Formats: sequence, structure tokens, C-alpha cells
Amino acid sequence: MTDLHRLSIREMTEGLKTAQFSSRELTQHYLDRIAKIDGRVQSYVTVTAEQALAQADAADNLLKSGTAGILTGVPIAHKDIFCTQGIRTSAGSKMLDNFISPYDATVVAKTKEAGLVTLGKVNMDEFAMGSTSESSFYGATKNPWNLEHVPGGSSGGSAAVVAADLAPIATGTDTGGSIRQPASFCGLTGLKPTYGRVSRFGMIAFASSLDQGGPMARSAEDCAFLMNTIAGHDAKDSTSVDKAVDDYVANLNATAVKGLRIGIPKQYFNVQGLDADVKARVEESLKKLQEMGATLVEIDLNMTEAYVPTYYLIAPAEASSNLSRYDGVRYGYRCENPTDILDLYKRSRSEGFGAEVQRRILIGTYALSAGYYDAYYVKAQKVRRLIQQDFLKAFENVDVIAAPSAPTTAYKIGANLSPTEMYLGDIYTLAVNLAGLPAINAPVGFDANQLPVGLQLIGNYWSESQLLSIVHQYQQNTDWHTKRAAIAEENV
Ligand code: GLN
Repeated sequence: MTDLHRLSIREMTEGLKTAQFSSRELTQHYLDRIAKIDGRVQSYVTVTAEQALAQADAADNLLKSGTAGILTGVPIAHKDIFCTQGIRTSAGSKMLDNFISPYDATVVAKTKEAGLVTLGKVNMDEFAMGSTSESSFYGATKNPWNLEHVPGGSSGGSAAVVAADLAPIATGTDTGGSIRQPASFCGLTGLKPTYGRVSRFGMIAFASSLDQGGPMARSAEDCAFLMNTIAGHDAKDSTSVDKAVDDYVANLNATAVKGLRIGIPKQYFNVQGLDADVKARVEESLKKLQEMGATLVEIDLNMTEAYVPTYYLIAPAEASSNLSRYDGVRYGYRCENPTDILDLYKRSRSEGFGAEVQRRILIGTYALSAGYYDAYYVKAQKVRRLIQQDFLKAFENVDVIAAPSAPTTAYKIGANLSPTEMYLGDIYTLAVNLAGLPAINAPVGFDANQLPVGLQLIGNYWSESQLLSIVHQYQQNTDWHTKRAAIAEENV
């Protein structure tokens, strides 16, 4: 079959269960597509073809013996931030270019236990810092909708593989928008779960109090299948929460859109730099939800101006601490011929880290230094709490909050935004991480250049089921999520 990549995850699982095709055929189909198409998209950092086919054969045995799980035999790509045993795990950095992980991240272990087949590891901004995937040591990944544009970031590779049909689903991570923004730029559905819902064990740390893994896929239904696999408590992650996990697939129709109260933050739709097409598509999607029975309620989120400065103190502060472990001594990049230990530290870190990572280490170290700690870091933590309270107050009156996922569609590759311009592009996503809330991106149309636009829905804590359900019903009534980039339509 030449069009296996057009199947939804549900159709794929049904095809495997009824032996219409085997996991080996399905896996080989994706490997062929990767070989033929990924030269242009450049989304994979590592393709694990041999291991994938072995996993596919094991899956086929389980399918034959009737002992397969729901997702057994379905291929997946992992962001190269998740540790994979025996396979390079680079985090998009020269620092870890030679790092073969000795263990699996919990998310990876769970997908393996569920019988999913790992196709490979996909590109990302270095240590997940960025919004374009251009800061990767491995070069820029291309947006499947227009190869001259970025796929977004930092989970740009995860978005590109799904949008080009080089994997049916992918894992991503979101510290300040890195699942939602690339999903928006590539016309996908992506869910950032509540902080603590998905284990961070073996997920290379950027900013530990903000980082959260989640699914990226074509539809809410596809995301729900992956969430059922990766969510849950993990004793190996002390911030993972011991709370029963919903059946996200079974709940896809459980939330009534009729009567749903959707908050529209006044402050969000007058942001300077909000593209007119983005605004129009998001408003049209809200109108559609209104037709489906939802009520739009204007709300205030008064802390909007504080999002970017607060995040860009806290995230670099945590990053500077997390990245101190890369010292050239224990693992990762080591400079040639160091003269002494200080030279070893200095040159290994100067040569191993790229410009954006070094910038964040500098900002973070500064904010955490004795003279500035109270003025910057402690102050930012206090503002963070106010941002959270702003949301909790809003949720007293509304069920979910709507926003764009990003103020623009995908930037051109090499647009060379200044750091501040790039940071401002994160305005709609950062606060969700600062507050630890869940949020989802859904594709809702295109701009004048045929680049996808995304709607973001932000929910209260643990409302992943509700968010997936709302988007699922929206997707039953619209067809934006079924649109494919020309490159995805190519048969191999
Ligand atoms: N773009 C944001 C940053 O550069 C968010 C990145 C992320 O979520 N990993 O920090």
C-alpha cells in the first residue's frame, strides 16, 4: 500500500489488528518516506531503521498471538531531548553530539512497553531554547508547508515529521510553548499537559519547573492515543503527580461544547505584532465553537505584560543551573588539549554550546548571582505567582481560555530575529508554563501565504481530557486538521 501514511492512529491500529498490513510493512513504509523526503525537510537527527524493523517484527508477533496492546506496531518519532538507551541523544547540541544514553526516558520506556516502534530522533533547538529549530547544531529543519520557512521550535522536528508524514505521531516538550507553537506553525494538534502529568525522567532538563512532555499529532484523537500511553505518575520524577490518569480516548466526546464558557482575554487580541490573518482565523474558529453552542466571555488577564520578562528570567536561571553539569569531564563534548581544569571547563563549554544557550547561561547566572538574586529571581517568582492567580481567577467564570498560539505564522528561515523579537513571539504560550496549566493547539486555517494558523485553548489543572474533547468535536465539524502539505501528499 502506498498511502499508509494517510491513516489516522485509530485506522492504523485497526489495520494492524485485522492484519490488513503488518507493523513491518507500516514501518518500512515510513522508512522509505524518510529516505525519499527527509533530505528536503531535514527533520531527523538519527533514523534508527534497524532497531525499528526489529521492534516492528516483535510487534507483529504480539499482534499475531493476540496479546498486542492498543498501539502495538504503530511508529513514532521522539524529540531528541528524550534519552533513548543505546542511541545518541543530542538535545540538538554539539555538547551531546557524542552522547549515547545508557537508559530510556520514562516517556520512551512507556512507548516501548506499549509496543510503539521508534523510527528515530528528531531535530530541535539546542537544549530546547528557541522558537525556530534553527539553533540546532544539526542545522535548520524546514516547514513542510513551505520549505523556506521554519517549522517553529523548539519541537520543530517533531512538528515537521508529522506534517510531512514522516511519522504518524511524535513526542515533544514544552517549556514555554515548544509543543504548541510548532504545532501551530505546521498545522497540527499538540497538547502541553499539566505540569506533573507526564514524567520528566530522562527528558534532558532545560527549566525544570516549566518543562513538560506531550503529544504532537494530526488530530486530538491521535494525541489522545499517545497521552493514554505516556501520562501517569513516575516514582523516578519527584514532580510527577500521583493522580489517576483519564482515558483520553474514551473521553473524546465527554465534554459538551454546548454551554461551554470560553474566556477571551481582552489583553490578548490587542497585542502589538498580532498578525491580521492570525487574528481573523482564530476569531473564525471561535465563531465556529459558538455555533456549536459555546458562549464567548470577555475576561481580563491583567498580567499579560509581565509574561515575557518573567519567563525570560526564570527559564534562563533554571537553565544556567541545569546546564552546569556539562563540564567536559563526565560526558559530552570535551575540548582538545586542555592546559588545566579551568581551561577544560571554559573551552569545552564555549565550544560545545551555541550562541543562544550561552546567552541564556549568562542571563541566568546574572539573575541568580548574590547581588541580583532578590531584585531579579525572587521578584520574578513573586510575579509568577500573580500570573497563576490571574488565571485561577479567570477560571472561576470560564471553562477554558482561548488565544492564538503565536502572534504570527511561521517565520522565514534565516529571518534573523533579534533575541527580543524572538522572545516576544512567545507572548501567548509562556504564561501557561509559568502557571503549570495544560493547553492545546488546534489548526484553524491558513494565512494569505498558505501557512497554518493555530488556536490555543488553555484549561484549568488536569483538564487534558476536556481540552482534547473540545478540539475533537471542533475537528468533527471542520476539516483543517485533515489538510496536508504538498510534500506529505507525495507517494514513494
Ligand atoms: N521559545 C521558548 C524559549 O525559547 C520556549 C521554548 C520551549 O518551550 N522549550 O525558551
